[in-house]
Amino acid sequence: MEALPNRGESGSNPSRAIRDAIRDGIRDGIRDGIRDAIRDGIRDTIRPPEVPTPLPLRSCSPTGAPPSPPGRVHGALPHHMTPWPRACDAAGGIPMSFTAVHPDRGRLDATLPDLGCGWAWTAIHRVQPPVSLACPECGHGMHAKKSSLGLRFFAHAPGSPACTLSEESMAHHLLKLELAQAARAAGWTAELEVSGPDGSWRADVLASSATGGRVALEAQLAGITVDEIRARTARMNSDGVRVCWFSDRSRIPWLGAVPSVQLIRQGDELMAAGPVARFRGTYWHPEPSIRLAEFIRGILTSRLLARAPQSPQRFSEQVVETLWASPRCFSAEAEKLREDEQRQRAADEGELRAERCGWARLDAKEAELLARGDHTRGALVRHSAGLPGLEDAMDQVAEMHRTRVTVGWSVGDARYSSGIPLVDDAGTLLAVFDPMPQSLPCQDFLLDVSLPLLFASDERRERFDEYRARCERIRAGRYAVSS
Ligand SMILES: [Zn+2]
Repeated sequence: MEALPNRGESGSNPSRAIRDAIRDGIRDGIRDGIRDAIRDGIRDTIRPPEVPTPLPLRSCSPTGAPPSPPGRVHGALPHHMTPWPRACDAAGGIPMSFTAVHPDRGRLDATLPDLGCGWAWTAIHRVQPPVSLACPECGHGMHAKKSSLGLRFFAHAPGSPACTLSEESMAHHLLKLELAQAARAAGWTAELEVSGPDGSWRADVLASSATGGRVALEAQLAGITVDEIRARTARMNSDGVRVCWFSDRSRIPWLGAVPSVQLIRQGDELMAAGPVARFRGTYWHPEPSIRLAEFIRGILTSRLLARAPQSPQRFSEQVVETLWASPRCFSAEAEKLREDEQRQRAADEGELRAERCGWARLDAKEAELLARGDHTRGALVRHSAGLPGLEDAMDQVAEMHRTRVTVGWSVGDARYSSGIPLVDDAGTLLAVFDPMPQSLPCQDFLLDVSLPLLFASDERRERFDEYRARCERIRAGRYAVSS
C-alpha cells in the first residue's frame, strides 16, 4: 500500500490521497482503536465503532474545533489533519522528519518517489546492514520508517539530542507535506526542511522555479510572537527568499503581520481562507476561500501578491497589514490613490489661488486709496487717460460692471507692469489696461489678481500672454522647490 508520499499513484489531490490511504488502511484491517481515533478525531475516549467503513475524513470549521487533549505532544492538532497523528502514534509516535542526509548521496527526501537522489525507497528501508543516515539538523543517526498507513519518513535513532526537527508535531510534518505537494503540482521544485546559506533560517518547504524564484512555505502551528515571525521573515527575505506562513488556528495573532494565510477544511479540501482580498474602487473586500493548491500556485506565479493595503478594508474580524490580492487589484488601488491625490492637490491649489487673489485685490485697493491722497499724481493720471485705446477699454469695463470707471491714481505702481489700473469710485481695481512684457522677474500681482487685462491690439495681448505663461512656469518651479 503506497499511500501519501507517492504522488505518482495518488494523482494530484493530496487530500484525496490521505483519505484513500486511510480508507485502504481500514480495509486492510487496522485495529478498531485507530478506526475510532480516525472517526472521533482527537477525542481521548475510544468507543465501539458505530458506522461502517469506508469512513470519510472528518471536516470541521476552525471555530468548531474540539478542545485539544491536555499533555499531548501534538496538543494543538490542526483539524484537517486529525486522523493522522493517531495513525502515526499507532505506528510508533516516533520523532520524525521527511529528510535525512546520506554520506554519499546527500539529502534524501522521503516525500519524493526517487527520494530526490535517484534511489528507491526499498534501497534504504529495512535493509541489512542498515544504510547510514543522519539528521540534517542535529547530525544524529536516523533510519527509514513507514507508518502502518504507508507514510514514509525518517526517525531519529534512540538517544538523539534535543533537535528542532524531532520536536515538530506530526500535524506540522503533514502540513509541510501538503505544502510541498501543492508546490510540485504547480510545477515548482519543492524541498523540505532546507537551511539557509548561513544557517540563520530553515524553511519547512523551499519551493524553487526554473527561473530562480524561491519561496518558503512555512507551516506555523505552534504559537509564535509577531516580532519573532517578522524577524524570521526578514532573515529569509534578506537571502532573496519570499515567504508565506500557513496556520489553521481559529485565532492567528500574526495573521497579516507577515505574508500569511489561514487554512480551513471544507469537505475534503484544505482551503486558503484569507486574508485574500479584492479591491473594489474604495475598499478591500474579502474574497471567498480558495483551494490550498490554487492559492499556492497563485503565490508562486505572482498572480497573488502580498502587499500592505493603503485603502480601508471590509474584513469583518481584523484589519490586516498585509493581504493577498492580484497585481491588477494593487494597480487599481494605486491608480485610485493617485487620482485622490491629484484631486486633493487641485483643491489645495484652488484654495491657495483664491487666497492670493483676495490679498492682491486688497493690496491694490490700499495702494489706490493711498495714492488718492497724493495730489501731485493728478497730472500723471490725466496724461495716462489720453493713451490710445484706453477709452474703449474703460467703456468695456463700465459695461461689465455697470459702474463709472476711471484711471486709478495708483498708476505707475510697479505691480501693474506699466499697465493702467482701471478703478471704480470706491477705488476698487476692476481691470488693468495694456500691461507690458518685461525682462524683470515676473510680477506675482498680475498672476494672482485674476482680473481682466485689456490691450490696445491683439499683437500686444499675445506678447503679454507669452510673458505671463513664462512667469507662471517660473513660479510653479519656485513653488515645487519650496514645498
Ligand atoms: Zn535531529
